[in-house]
Amino acid sequence: MTELTARPWLAGLAPYRPGAAAPSAAGSLSSNESALGASPHVVDAVTRAARAAHRYPDALATDLRAEIAARHGVPAEQVLVGNGSDELIFLLALAFLAGGGTAVCADPAYRVDEISTQVVGGTVTSVPLVADRHDLPAMAAVPADIAYVVNPHNPTGTLVPRDAIRRFRADSPAGLVVVDEAYVDFAPDPLATTAVPLVREGGLAVLRTFSKAYGLAGLRVGYLVAPASVVATLSGIRAPFSVNRLAQAAALAALRDRTHHEAVRVHTIDMRRRVSDLFTHHGYDVVPSHANFVLVRVPDEAAAVRRLADAGIAVRPGSALGVPGAIRVSVPGDEGWRQLRQALSRP
Ligand code: PMP
Repeated sequence: MTELTARPWLAGLAPYRPGAAAPSAAGSLSSNESALGASPHVVDAVTRAARAAHRYPDALATDLRAEIAARHGVPAEQVLVGNGSDELIFLLALAFLAGGGTAVCADPAYRVDEISTQVVGGTVTSVPLVADRHDLPAMAAVPADIAYVVNPHNPTGTLVPRDAIRRFRADSPAGLVVVDEAYVDFAPDPLATTAVPLVREGGLAVLRTFSKAYGLAGLRVGYLVAPASVVATLSGIRAPFSVNRLAQAAALAALRDRTHHEAVRVHTIDMRRRVSDLFTHHGYDVVPSHANFVLVRVPDEAAAVRRLADAGIAVRPGSALGVPGAIRVSVPGDEGWRQLRQALSRP
C-alpha cells in the first residue's frame, strides 16, 4: 500500500478559525451575523420545502438564480449560487489558482480568500492596507490571476467607491478582479456602491451572501455575478447539489421580503453609530465602518476580550484577523446593546 501523504503545500496551513459563541445569542458578536434574524416568511418557506426533503434540490437553483438575475438586471447565465459565498471562493481558487496560480489580497484579508488559494497550491501576495483601506495602486502593481477586493472590507469596514474599483480594474493585470460585497447592504448607498454594473465591462466578478443582511448564515447561501464564461467554468466543477432545498427556498423568500431587508439595514446602520459612539465615549479609537461590525483599537486585546466575555459577550480578537491590538464587534440587537453598554460602564 502506498503511504498516503497530504500534498506538501498543505503542511503548516493555518486553518480558518470561526468566532466563539457567547452564552446567549444576543451576546454573540463575533461572526457578523444578523441581530434581527431572517424574514418571518423564511420559516414558512423552509417548512414548505422540508415536505420535499426526500427529493434532491434543483441543481441549478433555477428560481433563485432567475430572481437574483432580475434583481441585478443581468442574464441568469451570469449568476451562480453557492453553499455560502465561501464555496464560490473555493471554486474560483480551484478553477483559476490550482497548481501554482497567484492571488493578490489586502493584508489583512478575508481569510477564506487566502486559505482557498493556499489549499489548491496557489500563492498569495499580501498588500498592506494603508490607513485601514485597500492600497489599490499597490495591488494593481502585482501580477496575479485573481485580485480580491473586499468591499466594505472585513475586518476594517472601510469602503472603496465604484470609480476606484473601475480604475483598479483598468490598471490591474489580474485575469479576474473579485469584489466581495458581503457587507454592501450596510453601505450608505448600496446601489451606487455595488460593482455589479462593472461586470459587463469584463474581467470582474461580484460575490454576495445571504448570511448578513438576509440573516441566513445558518443555511449557507451566497452567489456570484460574473462573466458567463466564469460561471460556466465554475458550474462545471461544482458539487451538483451543494445548495440544498431549504436554503434555496429560504433565500428566495428572504430576497422577496424587501420590508424586512430594509428594516435590518436601517437598524444596523443606526446601531452601528450607537456602538461606535459608545466605544469612542469610553476613549477607544473606532475605525469608521460601512459594515455590520466595527473594529475597535484597544490597548490590551486579551484583556478587552476577557472583560467582554465576563459580561457574556463574544467578540473577535483582532489578532485572529490580522489586526492585533483591536477587537471586531458585530452590530448587536437591542438586548446585545444593553449587555454591551453595561459591560463597558463597569469600572
Ligand atoms: N466574504 C466576507 C468578506 C465575509 O466576511 C464572509 C463572512 N464571514 C463571507 C464572505 C462568507 O459568507 P458566507 O456565509 O456566504 O460563506
